[in-house]
Amino acid sequence: MKRSEVDRTKISPMMKQYLEIKEKYEDTIIFFRLGDFYEMFFEDAMTASHELELTLTGKNCGLEERVPMCGIPYHAYKSYLDKLIEKGYKVAICEQMTDPKLTKGMVERDVIQVVTKGTRLDDAIDSRDFNYVGSIYDFEYCYGISYIDVSTGYVYGLVIDHEEEKLTKEIINRNIKEIIVNDKIDRNIVNQFREQYNLLVTFRETFYEGEDYQYIYQEIKDVRLSTTVKFLLQYLLDTKKGDLSHLQKLELVDENEHLLFDVHTKKNLELVETIRNHDRQYSLLWLLDKTKTAMGSRYLKANIESPLTEKKEILRRYDIIEKLLTEFIKKEELKEEFNKVYDLERLSSRISYGNLNARDLLQLKNSLSALPTIHAILEEIGYDKNVEVLEELYQLLEKSINEDAPVTVREGSLIKPGYHSELDELKNIRKNSKDFILQIENDEKERTGIKNLKVGFNKVFGYYIEVSKGSIPLIKEEFGYDRKQTLANCERFITPLLKEKEDIILGAEEKIIELEYQLFMQIRGIAKGYIGRLQQISKVLAEVDMMLSLATVAEENNYIRPTLTEERVIQIKEGRHPVVEKVSKKDYVPNDISMGKDTNILLITGPNMAGKSTYMRQLAIIIIMAQIGSFVPCKSCVIPIFDKIFTRIGASDDLVSGESTFMVEMKEANIAVSEATEHSLILFDELGRGTATYDGMSLAQAILEYIHDKIKAKTLFSTHYHELTSLASDLSNLRNVHVSAMEEQGKITFLHKVKNGAVDKSYGIHVASLAKLPTSLIERANEILSVYEQKGTKQQTFTQTSLFLDFDSKETSSENEIVQKINEINPLEMTPIEALNFLYEITKEIKNEKK
Ligand code: ADP
Ligand code: MG
Repeated sequence: MKRSEVDRTKISPMMKQYLEIKEKYEDTIIFFRLGDFYEMFFEDAMTASHELELTLTGKNCGLEERVPMCGIPYHAYKSYLDKLIEKGYKVAICEQMTDPKLTKGMVERDVIQVVTKGTRLDDAIDSRDFNYVGSIYDFEYCYGISYIDVSTGYVYGLVIDHEEEKLTKEIINRNIKEIIVNDKIDRNIVNQFREQYNLLVTFRETFYEGEDYQYIYQEIKDVRLSTTVKFLLQYLLDTKKGDLSHLQKLELVDENEHLLFDVHTKKNLELVETIRNHDRQYSLLWLLDKTKTAMGSRYLKANIESPLTEKKEILRRYDIIEKLLTEFIKKEELKEEFNKVYDLERLSSRISYGNLNARDLLQLKNSLSALPTIHAILEEIGYDKNVEVLEELYQLLEKSINEDAPVTVREGSLIKPGYHSELDELKNIRKNSKDFILQIENDEKERTGIKNLKVGFNKVFGYYIEVSKGSIPLIKEEFGYDRKQTLANCERFITPLLKEKEDIILGAEEKIIELEYQLFMQIRGIAKGYIGRLQQISKVLAEVDMMLSLATVAEENNYIRPTLTEERVIQIKEGRHPVVEKVSKKDYVPNDISMGKDTNILLITGPNMAGKSTYMRQLAIIIIMAQIGSFVPCKSCVIPIFDKIFTRIGASDDLVSGESTFMVEMKEANIAVSEATEHSLILFDELGRGTATYDGMSLAQAILEYIHDKIKAKTLFSTHYHELTSLASDLSNLRNVHVSAMEEQGKITFLHKVKNGAVDKSYGIHVASLAKLPTSLIERANEILSVYEQKGTKQQTFTQTSLFLDFDSKETSSENEIVQKINEINPLEMTPIEALNFLYEITKEIKNEKK
C-alpha cells in the first residue's frame, strides 16, 4: 500500500503523527522511533527492506490493509544508517521527545536531524579529508558557489562566470559530496552531477534570515555571494537542527591565488589517488603525507589540490623547510609532540554541536598538553606563526574529567574525585552504604546462624537476602524477613533496614549520574567558549604539521629547494618522478628538462614504453610540488611560477560518461587551448591517437601551431607521428627531443634517457615481440615496415597517400627505380651491345615485378 492511498479518517493516531512528520521530510527516509526500534513505513519501508535486506512486515493502523513496515533496533542503527547514506539517501532521525512512561496518550515525536552525506558529523567521514556540502546559485548570468565543511566549520564562497565547464570544475575539484541548487539551473548539469559524479543534489528555494549566523557573511560586500551562502546555511540548519556556532567566517576563494588545473589533470597526474584503483596509495599525496594529525593531512591534501601562485608565500615555505632541516633535533621533538595532538578542528565542531562525550574532552586535554612545548619550539626556531597555549582550559579538563570515562554521558563515572564537593559527598554516601550492606550480610549470618546466607542485588527487587532451600526452616518470625521471591533452590527476602540503605544508595546513584551530567555539560559549555581560539590554533598546527611532513619527505628522498624565476625558463637538472622513483623496482633514470626563453614546445618522440609519459608527468609534478612550497626531486631546479596546468594524458575511454576517447581528447584539448596563457603548462600525450591517422596528425599539427603562435604556453607534446618532427624547421620555438632505446639482436632495452633531436626509428614492433606476439605476425609486421621505410614517407610531412599496402604501390616504387636507371644512362655514350644489355636487364626487371 502506498502512502498516497491512505484514508486519513480511519488511521490510528500514531500513524497520523507519522504522516504529518513525513510530509515535512518528503525526500528522506524516516527512522521513526518506536520504543527500542526505528521503524520505517510505506515506500520508505520498501526501499529500506530492499537496500538493507530487512524483512518487510506490516502494521495494523486501523485500515483494512496492513501498512508496509520494517524496523531496526535503535542501539544497532549505525551500520544501517551508513549503508543508506552511502547509497545516496537522506535519513531523518525521528525521536520520542517525551518519556513514554510519563506521558499520557501519544508520545511526542520529532525529527532531531537529517543525516546526509555532505553534512555528517560522526566518525563515518574520512578523517583525512574534508567533507563538503555546497550550494550553487544560478543567477542566470553567473553562478554563486559556496561550500561548507560542517565537521571543521570552514566556509568558502566564490562567484564564477556562467559557464558550465567552469562550474563543473569548481564543484568536482573539491571533495563536495552534496549540493543544493535553485530552480534556474540547467537540468543537464544536475543530471551530470548526479549520474557522473555521484553527488547528492537537492532543489531548494529558502534562505537564512536569522541573526545568529550573520557573522559568517556580514563582511561580504558582494550580494551574490551572501545570497549563495544564506541559501546553503538555511539548508544546513534545517538538516542539522543543532548549534553550529563553530562555523567560521566565510573565506573568499580567489582563483588567482592558486595554481589551477581541472579534474582530468588531478586524475591524470595521480595527485591524490591512482587512476587504476582510485587508491590513495602510490599517489603524490601518499608520498608526501607524513603528517601526524588529521588536520595536517587534510591541509596537505587541500594544498596539493590547490597549490599556490604567490611567490612570497611559496618562498616562506621553502625557508621553513630549510630551517626544519637544519634544526634536526628540534624537528624531531616537534614531531614527537604532534603525536599527542588529536583532531582539534573536528573536536571543536562536536563541542558546539553537542554530540561529544568525555573521551572527546580527554582528547582535547591531551592535545592541549602538547601546546606549551610546541609553542616553545616554534619560538626557538623562529617560526613566524605560533599557537596560543590554553593553560586554564587544560587545567580545568585535567582536574575534572575522569581518565577512563565511558563513551556515554548518561552513566556517570565522568568526573574525577576532588572536582566537586557535593558529588564527592554523594559518592561517599553511596560507598558507605555499600559497605554497610556488606556489613549486614555478616551481621545476619551471625544473628540467624545461617552460614550460606547472602546479600545480593538485582534491578527488579533491589537488594535482597538470599537463603538456600535447606536453610529455610531456620528462619524465625522475629528476624522480620519479608519473602519476595521463590526460586528453584532458594528464597529471597527483604528487611526494612536493607530497604532503607537501598533507598539511600539508589537515591545517591541517581543524583550522582544527574550531577555528573550537569557538570559535564558545564565543562562543555566552558570549552565552547574557546572554540574560536581552538580553531586558530588548529590552523597553525595544520600548517606546521604539513611543513614537518614536507621537510621529512625532502630529507628522506634528497629533494632540493627550487629557485623561482621571473623569466619564462625551465632548467631542471636530473629531475625524477618522485612516485615512480619510490615505487619502481628498477633504478630511476634522472632526466634534464631544459626550456629556454625561446623554447615553448618540446616535441617528444620515442618508442612505446620508453618513458615519454613519465617524463611529462615528472615536470608537472615537480611544478606542483614547488608551488605547494615543497622541495623537489632533482639536482637543481629553476622554474617560473605557473598559473594553470592542462593535461591530456592516457587514452582510456571515459567509461562513465560514455564519450569516445577522441571526444574526450578534443574536449580536454579545447579547454587547454581556450584557457591557457603564456604562463601555463600544457601536457599533451599522444594527442590525436583516438582517431584515424590523418585526422589525428592534422589536428595534432594544427594544435601545435596554435599553441606555438597564439598561446606560447610551455608545452610538452609527445607523439607517435614521426612526421611531426619536421615541424621544428617551421616553428622556431619548437624543439625535438626523443627518448632513446637500445636495440641489440632484435631485442630492445629502454634507457629512459631523454636526448635532443627526433628519433627516427619506431621500436613498436620490437615491443610487440617482447609482448610475445606470434613470430609469424612479427615477421610480417617487419616486412610491412620495411616497405614503408623504402617509400621514405617518414621524413615528409603529409606526403603519405595511402595507409594500406598494396601491389600498386609496390609497382610504383619499382617503376620509379627503372625510370631512375634510365635517367642515369646516356645513350650517346653507349656501345650498341651495352645498350642491348641494358634493355635486356630492364625488361627482365619489369617482368619479374609483374609475376
Ligand atoms: P611511454 O609513455 O613512452 O610509453 P611510460 O612513460 O609509460 O612510457 O614509461 C614506461 C615504463 O618505463 C613505466 O613502467 C615507467 O615506470 C618506466 N620509466 C619511465 N621513465 C623512467 C625513468 N626515467 N627511469 C626509470 N623507469 C622509467
Ligand atoms: Mg605514454
